[in-house]
Amino acid sequence: MRNFSEDTIAAISTPIGESGIGIVRLSGRDAVKIADRIFISRDKKRPSQFKSHTIHYGHVVDEVLLTVMRSPKTYTKEDVVEINCHGGIVALRRTLELIIQKGARLAQPGEFTKRAFLNGRIDLAQAEAVLDIIKSKTEAGLRASLNQLEGELSKEIRMIRGDIIEICADIEAAIDFPEEDIDRDAISSRLKVIKGSRKKLEKLSETYHDGAILREGVVAVICGRPNVGKSSLLNLLLRKNRAIVTHLPGTTRDPIEELASIKGIPIRLVDTAGIGKEKNIVEKEGIKRSHLYLSRADLVICVLDGSERLKKEDGEILDKIKDKSAIIVVNKCDLRPKTRADQIKKISKNKDILKISCLDKIGIDKLEDRIYNKVWSGKVSSSNEVMVNNIRHKKAIESAIKALSSAESGISKNLSLEFVASDVRDSVNSLGEIIGETYTDDILNLIFSKFCIGK
Ligand code: GDP
Repeated sequence: MRNFSEDTIAAISTPIGESGIGIVRLSGRDAVKIADRIFISRDKKRPSQFKSHTIHYGHVVDEVLLTVMRSPKTYTKEDVVEINCHGGIVALRRTLELIIQKGARLAQPGEFTKRAFLNGRIDLAQAEAVLDIIKSKTEAGLRASLNQLEGELSKEIRMIRGDIIEICADIEAAIDFPEEDIDRDAISSRLKVIKGSRKKLEKLSETYHDGAILREGVVAVICGRPNVGKSSLLNLLLRKNRAIVTHLPGTTRDPIEELASIKGIPIRLVDTAGIGKEKNIVEKEGIKRSHLYLSRADLVICVLDGSERLKKEDGEILDKIKDKSAIIVVNKCDLRPKTRADQIKKISKNKDILKISCLDKIGIDKLEDRIYNKVWSGKVSSSNEVMVNNIRHKKAIESAIKALSSAESGISKNLSLEFVASDVRDSVNSLGEIIGETYTDDILNLIFSKFCIGK
């Protein structure tokens, strides 16, 4: 292994900008020695004399609180020093510069977490979960990532991989001693383990869909003719549920798309009333985009005005969405009802209808329940389920499944054991990539470059 921890790294670990406090973090062999060179305390004690995991008042550039955490019970498993400074970029930068002058090197993005991985404190899937936790937008997404950080996915992968490794050893032994009689029982038990492992992996791979929902969110389009109350509904849902961050990485966010967290699920709400109202978008383009949104919607919320008779336009919209996963809401139920449920049911192929009033805030909780149930459609029993939510993991699981299938057919066709062993080994390696038992510098760079500096 490279001598990665020879040098001591440092970075500002809190967001840049005005804040109550800011933290500069150091990790590596000389972390405490460097702290000795810059920290002045009233009683003239030096950080190297401090007990591990204790916090001390003193001065660096300004007043600070300094914590010494000695290896191995630290985030990186190396000596770590954290300096709490007054927030504000000038004091933080000057502190960091001083630390660099005294011998530390500026950390690369994610380098603290990378060291935690290289030093064996966490595996690769757990390191990736750290990133997901930083970036999670909703509670359910956060819970899934915390689960992964605690090693639930890794445990499952390790268990399956362990079984396959045993079989691999068994097959390799059989190659080495070909003169021994062909043992039918051994062949069938190998086949059983390989098949069983493949099935477990297939089940894990299937969770990706739900994992992706938690990560990326579902697109819910609010449609209906003008003035039925689409914008009112959008605003109501957002006021209650707006997610903290309104930008999702890797998605081109439209100005009319807003992220809400409805019962913990990230829902990207699209208000088709907004389409065409933007500058530079002519009506024709607006209609085209409305259609595009409808076609890629995971869920449609179709709004009707209950205080008016069903109009031709309503009928057209209901007809258009009749084969989609949709919730029909009849708004303005505070007014005298004029729409007829049987008519709506007939056009919409018997879809459920929910009466709401955006004005009096009636039926909104029920609507949220329905959205939640539609998204999961009763599939996710608990958020504690081990879930694959990372495309890298999914791809690795898929190659393992492919290799195992090939091994199965090799055994069934009585192919030479060398071929079977090679397939089985491939699957072991693919699973190893998930937890970082096998990795390349390219994989590490790809993963950690997505982190921020200081994590
Ligand atoms: P959009 O064109 O579909 O986005 O509709 P808006 O949300 O702009 O609403 C159109 C009009 O209906 C506005 O004057 C709203 O105040 C009114 N409105 C919306 N929801 C309700 C409701 O539940 N009851 C009543 N009485 N009026 C509503």
